[in-house]
Amino acid sequence: VKNIAVLTSGGDAPGMNAAIRAVVRTGIYHKLNVFGVMYGYRGMIQDDIVPMDSKSVANIIQRGGTILKTARSKEFFTPEGRKKAYENLKKRGVDGLVVIGGDGSFKGAHVFSQEFGIPCIGLPGTIDKDISGTDFTIGFDTAANTAISAIDKIRDTADAHDRLFIVEVMGRDAGYIALYSGLATGAEHIMVPERPSDIENIVAALQDNERRKKLVNIIVVAEGCPHGSATEMAEVVRREIPSFDTRVCILGHIQRGGSPSCMDRIIASRLGYAAVKALLEGKYQSHMAGVINNEVRYTPFEQAIKTTEQIGEEWFGLYRILAS
Ligand code: ATP
Repeated sequence: VKNIAVLTSGGDAPGMNAAIRAVVRTGIYHKLNVFGVMYGYRGMIQDDIVPMDSKSVANIIQRGGTILKTARSKEFFTPEGRKKAYENLKKRGVDGLVVIGGDGSFKGAHVFSQEFGIPCIGLPGTIDKDISGTDFTIGFDTAANTAISAIDKIRDTADAHDRLFIVEVMGRDAGYIALYSGLATGAEHIMVPERPSDIENIVAALQDNERRKKLVNIIVVAEGCPHGSATEMAEVVRREIPSFDTRVCILGHIQRGGSPSCMDRIIASRLGYAAVKALLEGKYQSHMAGVINNEVRYTPFEQAIKTTEQIGEEWFGLYRILAS
């Protein structure tokens, strides 16, 4: 390879900038020309592509968001759209692509790589931690820490007023932000999409808490819970235990922003380096670089996007014991 391009796509995640920086600097170190594609696949189709140098990624490792911006592109789903994108890479001689994004971005990269024979390496950039082939995704740790500091603050005010708070956290169809932030803040209950929540049991436990005069309670609910959103859960609690002063707090987009944690900066730096190394070695055509057991591993896109991973029962046994 001589010329590589890097883009960020799909939902933004803290640490994407650290990954871009690692890709650009590793590429330049190995005498490659590095291009930055603005706005993900949309920019690739619209020819919004800029040359990157070492200075263009200075002072960004600590910044949230992504200097390359991100977008979703309907046109990239079509063969015509992807052809346009390919032409724009071809005229610059791009012979390797690094895609930082989530499962949708990897699906796109896989199709693109198959169609035009361009080696594509993906980096898991999503706060949701819903990708196989890596223990953590870039952005998850920061998002979970943001949720934790918010829930700690909520507990202060809950404690002052003897209130029950139902806190909704992000994660799409994955419950990891809820699980980690709930466990780390001592939440009384955690509701995740991977596991049906026994609402009757939760209500019974809360009634028991009421009898014991334990009036401060926190329930952390993942946004993707099909069996009761935070608002629905609040309705149930208000109906069943009217004596509780019940409030809902939806944390929302603050979880996507902010300076990336140490862990996210390190994963992003390691994986950005690993992506360029894989392109240089020419070993992987359509793979994601991830970290498993603290070692860099490459997983084919088809496997990485299969999110069949379940949250094991031991996690729930653990928080039930610790929260009792
Ligand atoms: P996040 O999980 O954070 O939302 P994501 O990468 O999964 O990130 P998506 O919106 O699902 O985000 O995908 C990003 C882009 O990837 C889409 O807008 C589209 O351009 C492209 N893409 C997704 N799936 C495909 C596909 N099957 N074929 C071609 N392109 C795709």
